[in-house]
This record gives sequence, structure tokens and C-alpha cells, in this order.
Amino acid sequence: MSDALLEAWRAARGAVETAAAGRPVTLVAVSKTRSHDEVATLARFGQRDFGENYVQEALPKMAACARLGLPFEWHFIGPLQSNKAREVATHFDWVQSVDRPKLVAALAGYRSSERAPLNVLIQVNIDEEASKSGCRPADIDDLARRIDAEPMLRLRGLMAIPDPARDAAAPGGAFERLRGLFEALRARYRDVDTLSMGMSDDYLDAIRCGATMVRIGSALFGPRPPRD
Ligand SMILES: *Cc1c(COP(=O)(O)O)cnc(C)c1O
Repeated sequence: MSDALLEAWRAARGAVETAAAGRPVTLVAVSKTRSHDEVATLARFGQRDFGENYVQEALPKMAACARLGLPFEWHFIGPLQSNKAREVATHFDWVQSVDRPKLVAALAGYRSSERAPLNVLIQVNIDEEASKSGCRPADIDDLARRIDAEPMLRLRGLMAIPDPARDAAAPGGAFERLRGLFEALRARYRDVDTLSMGMSDDYLDAIRCGATMVRIGSALFGPRPPRD
């Protein structure tokens, strides 16, 4: 298992680095449904950033990993209910799925002032799909202002999951529009430096279109078992 994982991780890192052409791009290993052992294996190779979608699944895995004595940055990337905001604000380093004012207030209220501020990305529903999480592009400004006003939150940028049925990398496509929204935000807020877009099937295109962070699951760990 760990040979195949090492191989896949090295390949992805190499591909990210080549596509990034000297720019810093963070690879977040998406470890939802994956065991603590698989995460530990990657962490021993030197992987630091991990993304999780489900609070209940993530917390025991994170606690087990904390005992390894290795550096970890944990990213919450799944849809977030307000009743989970306390656990997320307590245990994670990043939340990439902030898409409404209620979450901003809840996360800020629960982040301990003894910790570093929680890094926050605004999730944008870039293709304005009816069923998707993420705010409308027109709502970014209001959310950004609210996040920026909270001392225990640090606005770092934007995250999106473009509609897989469309070509996100096409001219005028989702990646290009996200890049534009990101640049506009970065011009206004000093800590904004992160554009999280691109997954296993499209991370190289995303990097070429300006992503500074990619979230890769199945290309590292293999196909995920279906969830019910
Ligand atoms: C599952 C997931 C990923 C990783 O998807 P892969 O296609 O397996 O790389 C990335 N981002 C989010 C928000 C996810 O939920």
C-alpha cells in the first residue's frame, strides 16, 4: 500500500511543481474515507496539508495523527452545518467552505483566542448550480467584510468546485472567472493569497489558470468507496 501511495504522491507533487513553474502551489491531500494509517504514511513522506469533509470522521483521525509528532495543517473542505462550527473552529487550521454570514459568526465565536486565527476561504458557487454549496459571486464582498471584521478569523481567499459537466479551463470558464474574483479580493485584503481550485481530474489546468492550492484525493489514494 505505501509503495503505491508514495509513487502517486511523488507523481502528483512533480506534476504540481512543473505546472506551477516556480510559483508556490500547496497540495492538499484529501483524506476523506481514508484511514489514519494512510494519512500517517503520507505525513511521514513529508505531506503536511490534509483535507477532510466530515467532522465525525475527521476528529478521531486527527487525534491519532497528533500523536505522530509531525507537522499537520488540517483543512475542513466539506459542507458545514452551524452545529458543527464549534468542533471545526476548535480542531482545524483552515475552513474552505464558508458560504454564509451565520457560519462566519459561529466560527469566530468558537475560535479560541489562544490559537492562531482560523484561516478562512469563501466557497463560491461559481457555476451558480442550484443544488451546490457556496455563495453567489455577488455575495463575496459582504462575506469578505464580515470575515475581515473578526479578529479570530483570517481571510485567505476563495475555494470552488466547478460544475464537472462544463469545461472549467475553457476561455471564460470557471477557473478564469475565479481568478478574476480572486484578484479583485486580493487587491482589497492584505492576507488574501489563496485560490483553492482543482481536484484529481483537473488540477493541472487549475494551476495553469492561477490556482495557488489544489485538493487531490483519488489521484493519490485511488478511487473512494461509494458513500451512502
Ligand atoms: C472529495 C473532494 C476533493 C477531492 O476529490 P478528488 O476528485 O478525489 O481529487 C476535493 N475537494 C473537495 C471539496 C472534495 O469534497
